[in-house]
Amino acid sequence: MITMMWFSRDTIDLHTHSTFSDGTFTPLQLVKYAEEKGLKAFAITDHDTTEGVKEAKSIETNVEVISGVEISTRYDKKEIHIVGLYVNENDADLNKQLKYYREKRVTRNFEILEKLNSLGVNITIDDVKESCTGDVISRAHIAKALVSKGFVGSYTEAFDRYLGDNKCAYVPRETLNYEESMELITKAGGVPVLAHPLLYKMSDTNLENMMVKLRQKGLKAVEVYYSTHSNSDTQHIMAMANRVGLIYSGGSDFHGATKPKIDMGTGMGKLAVPYEILEKIRGERNG
Ligand code: AMP
Ligand code: MN
Ligand code: MN
Ligand code: MN
Repeated sequence: MITMMWFSRDTIDLHTHSTFSDGTFTPLQLVKYAEEKGLKAFAITDHDTTEGVKEAKSIETNVEVISGVEISTRYDKKEIHIVGLYVNENDADLNKQLKYYREKRVTRNFEILEKLNSLGVNITIDDVKESCTGDVISRAHIAKALVSKGFVGSYTEAFDRYLGDNKCAYVPRETLNYEESMELITKAGGVPVLAHPLLYKMSDTNLENMMVKLRQKGLKAVEVYYSTHSNSDTQHIMAMANRVGLIYSGGSDFHGATKPKIDMGTGMGKLAVPYEILEKIRGERNG
């Protein structure tokens, strides 16, 4: 009994996507799933939009729904992602900027389709829209269309052959720089978090230097808990965060069927983000 109680700690998930970006769960399905999974709180952190958050906030539930957003930015020519937690989803400036970048995506999507067409891969924007329910069409949707039209055998193959960074149909995307994205999040009342630090495949020295620079520009937290982290990865990023002076965040990066191996709350099976870290994150709102 004592052991049971020891393990029944409250857990949360501070990184999930809905159908408003490239996830396959609607905000309502996310809320219901969070209830089912027994999460005490979760954040919707869609790419470039807060529309899913607005919808989720209108749902009655015992789970704390945290408004979030994930913004792609540049650091030293590398794409890095900044999650904003507790942003005001109705903030006019934030929504205006996000809309601008969503519109930039539209142009970019047509450029990707042009490249694909010139390679004999004849898919159209309507094919892509069939796998897209929300506001943001990303490479994830183009990849799904390539699978459903039979041009590739799998989602992964779509990236390996065509859509991955610097592959033959890749087109870079106009993004905010990291200072701007963190300022936008902070001005909207949110807490800027460095997402999935180990996905950038940087050396330890470069990663820690980047964290130092980002912190000087307003970064408050880093995802020490993440679906693909081993225990030692988590310890490693925690130690780095402690040295740099960042607090802990974390989440699964749940996308539903887009990333079938990753489950909400539990990631690839071992993820458990403790509720306690949320209190510190809340404490970072508005300085
Ligand atoms: P975009 O924002 O349009 O650049 O597309 C980003 C989406 O594509 C995200 O959902 C990523 O998870 C996915 N993505 C990017 N690169 C890869 C890759 N190499 N393999 C699988 N998914 C990827
Ligand atoms: Mn995504
Ligand atoms: Mn990301
Ligand atoms: Mn994400």
